[in-house]
Amino acid sequence: MNLCIGCGEAYTSRPSWSIFFWPERISLLCRDCEESFHRLKEPGCPSCMKQTGSSICSDCLEWEKSSYQGVLEKNVSLYSYEPFMQDYIARWKYRGDYILGKVFEAEFRKLYYQHFQDSKYEVVSIPISAERMVERGFNQAGELAAFTRAKRKDVLGRKKAWRKAIQAQTIAQADCRKSFSFAIRAA
Ligand SMILES: [Zn+2]
Ligand SMILES: [Zn+2]
Repeated sequence: MNLCIGCGEAYTSRPSWSIFFWPERISLLCRDCEESFHRLKEPGCPSCMKQTGSSICSDCLEWEKSSYQGVLEKNVSLYSYEPFMQDYIARWKYRGDYILGKVFEAEFRKLYYQHFQDSKYEVVSIPISAERMVERGFNQAGELAAFTRAKRKDVLGRKKAWRKAIQAQTIAQADCRKSFSFAIRAA
């Protein structure tokens, strides 16, 4: 009997073929919580993976008309950002439940190597401020970067004066992308 890290309920782990073929995959969730993670299907929009067929979606067309034109080469997403996931991410990110991120590790790494095995890419995580680090105890973007096990370059820093602008940008991006994802910038 285990305790689900998603809902705290006791559950019995069950054998599955995915664990047999992929021993690294650790199931930390009960069946109900696991089934609430909705994996996005490929291809979707080739630019952002929005589940609207396989042509460029209206969000991306709008994005390319903005001042961000040509900035984003490709965005690859793992799960749909539905209410269950929004709550889960909030608990992980803002309430410091570090262990919640572990359920993403194996799938995140697999997705990364499916799309970014090409050596022209490097993993750069978005840093958080020193005060956020004290509040949360970890940087979730750094955790995701670590999940890839790829070589990382920590070349970004935070400037206080930029925070509001970055927050506004993040909200706009989140609204546009609606996903839990990788984003890469064109060189
Ligand atoms: Zn659960
Ligand atoms: Zn799109």
